[in-house]
Amino acid sequence: MAQSSQLQPPPSNLLVDLRSDTVTQPSAGMRQAMLDAPVGDDVFGEDESIQALQQRCAELTGHEAALFCPSGTMTNQIAIQVHTRPGDEVICDKLSHIYNYEGGGIARNSGASVRLMHGDRGRYDVEEMIANINPADSHYARTSLVAVEDTCNKGGGAIWNVDELARLSEASRARGLGFHLDGARVWNAWVQRGEWGDASALQHYGRLFDSMSLCLSKGLGCPVGSVLVGSESFIAEAHRSRKVMGGGMRQAGVLAAAGLYALEHHVARMAQDHHHARMLEQTLGAHPDVAHVDAVDTNIVIFTLPGATSDTVVQAFSNMGIACFAFGPNKVRLVTHLDVATANLEEACQRIAKWRA
Ligand SMILES: *Cc1c(COP(=O)(O)O)cnc(C)c1O
Repeated sequence: MAQSSQLQPPPSNLLVDLRSDTVTQPSAGMRQAMLDAPVGDDVFGEDESIQALQQRCAELTGHEAALFCPSGTMTNQIAIQVHTRPGDEVICDKLSHIYNYEGGGIARNSGASVRLMHGDRGRYDVEEMIANINPADSHYARTSLVAVEDTCNKGGGAIWNVDELARLSEASRARGLGFHLDGARVWNAWVQRGEWGDASALQHYGRLFDSMSLCLSKGLGCPVGSVLVGSESFIAEAHRSRKVMGGGMRQAGVLAAAGLYALEHHVARMAQDHHHARMLEQTLGAHPDVAHVDAVDTNIVIFTLPGATSDTVVQAFSNMGIACFAFGPNKVRLVTHLDVATANLEEACQRIAKWRA
């Protein structure tokens, strides 16, 4: 039987839901912003809230244009489609979301193949990347795109070194390759590296990439949505792909308004999520039955158990009111987010400390 990676429902005695940063409820302020949003038919380019969100994301990242889409899978898949032709090859890490968790979309939507890097928690270096570019010879698939994920989910929320990204960017551009960011959780990286609030640092970072996918529905706490940024001509092509994928929307400004609200109110506060994750890291690190806790950079904590399967641990945690997620046969993932109250997290840490596998 294929290994199950289904999210279990939260227990009835729920203390804290650490399954994912996608379980958040839209906050009261966000719901009000949605209620007040000016909207129009976005297929006619008449939704003011969507226009404002797109403009804000482009400005923030130093790009010319942006496109609001229903999901991060769609923004990534559109970017891949615009950067490649059928038969091309995409360089990405073996832990990347575009490879593992998008239903084989690189092959299915774009007819492209993948060259996997073996980086450190999802972060590969420029030497490995260059060594994996195919020669310009018709025997080989044409390498056309390099993709990175900051933070890397399967790497335990690992953040990249910006200098390494700059080297990858320069090497990609020098060879005519596109450079794409899966920035589902780039907000966490920006906060953790101290770039959030520093307009020039964000634009420097943004301009390293030819395209960036930014999710609103993870740590930002929106119900739906991702934004793709890039040049005017890139976004014009992306708009065409979005149409073909069925992602055109009408009065979706109610959703864009949630994104605009989150950009004002839900980014800087992620420092609290990172603090909560370190509390869990310390608790698990001191636990006699835990074999290993991956380094915690941001809001994701992954730990490994030698003696127990992850399904058993997820059940034991669930019995203690802590909902979490099996991340492989003996790994468990905990994710902090804006609906985690410090008092509940402290109580969860106490329960974990007393628990025995
Ligand atoms: C969640 C996520 C996405 C996009 O997912 P959607 O559920 O389609 O919005 C892309 N990349 C990473 C790293 C993610 O965690």
